[in-house]
Amino acid sequence: MDINSVDVERIVKQVLADMNGSAPKKAFSGEIPKTSKAAMLTALEHYEIKEFPIPELGDDDILVKVEGCGVCGTDAHEFKRDPFGLIPLVLGHEGTGEIVKMGKNVKKDSAGKPLNIGDKVVTCMIFKDNPDITMFDLNKQNVGGADVYGLLPDDDIHLNGWFADYLVIRGGSTVFNVSDLDLDSRILIEPCAVLIHAVERAKTTGILKFNSRVVVQGCGPIGLICIAILRTMGIENIVAVDGEEKRLAFAKKMGADNSVNFKNFKGVEALADGVKDAFGGYLADFAFQCTGSPVAHSNIYKFIRNGGGLCELGFFINGGDATINPHFDICSKEITTVGSWVYTLRDYATTFDFLKRAKAIGIPLSELITHKFPLDQINEAHITNLKMEGLKIAIVNE
Ligand SMILES: [Zn+2]
Repeated sequence: MDINSVDVERIVKQVLADMNGSAPKKAFSGEIPKTSKAAMLTALEHYEIKEFPIPELGDDDILVKVEGCGVCGTDAHEFKRDPFGLIPLVLGHEGTGEIVKMGKNVKKDSAGKPLNIGDKVVTCMIFKDNPDITMFDLNKQNVGGADVYGLLPDDDIHLNGWFADYLVIRGGSTVFNVSDLDLDSRILIEPCAVLIHAVERAKTTGILKFNSRVVVQGCGPIGLICIAILRTMGIENIVAVDGEEKRLAFAKKMGADNSVNFKNFKGVEALADGVKDAFGGYLADFAFQCTGSPVAHSNIYKFIRNGGGLCELGFFINGGDATINPHFDICSKEITTVGSWVYTLRDYATTFDFLKRAKAIGIPLSELITHKFPLDQINEAHITNLKMEGLKIAIVNE
């Protein structure tokens, strides 16, 4: 490539302008259509692709052309049972896309980075009447109960979820410029934030250290991402527990150095011995419980050494009661337990750095996305998700 001095000067000017946040707004190269497709869940297990007019933007609003969106466990619950009573609605909260238009007041994202046409963004929660939730303090408040795009009741804008061609981000929403992440990484931000939060919760016990022996029980997407995060932060001694060899093999790809298939053991004592053997004769210093099974919760205490720690994060929804023995499992062992649920805004920003670092050290996180469907096949995507055939299912727009 032939770079002449004039070009260099222009590039330097552009870089300086970018740094100052005063770069001239690039125009969106494509044409913004008058209407947008959106997949609306109109009945249980039934999406309809509808066409809605793209509304006029307010001065604080952003119009995003959607590139992709992960299908979440929450979407599966809505699809099957509508537990939040939201039907009809446009679902999809693990989405990302490109800014194609924005109101005149929009200058920066929620972390203070400049926003311009062409930038790739994700959203987190929408602030309504809880100013506490805006705080970046670690562990202060998670987003439980906050509004997010993709779980909003339908209104006259309609373009409220990421399972669509366009999304209207309204003023007062959190939005992050993640132009430096590839599409697969951006689709994985939301589930990864759940695990960044869990690890931050685990760190508050003071037990999780570089040389800790850590057991991760459950190798669905949540457990697998947990392993990737532990490995990325420098923890080497990780044992994965699951009942499926395919998932255990994947756990090793994510950074587990040993695995235990619980189906090969009869009774929890034998299983605990199996975990101990996998650590070379030691019980775990710390455990992450990543399944939604009450039995798995009961079992995990047996894998932890005296004075060890536990983070329970498997129960996103009520999975029923679990039985433990308070004497053996908690008192006499002096186990420190933390619970973890969703994430804080701060965790969201930390997740961007994690995704870059994981890629840099060669963890193939994008392989977690096992299936990609176009928007038109959103019903098929959800059915595949319900069959639990893959790991992460994503809608990817062309
Ligand atoms: Zn989700």
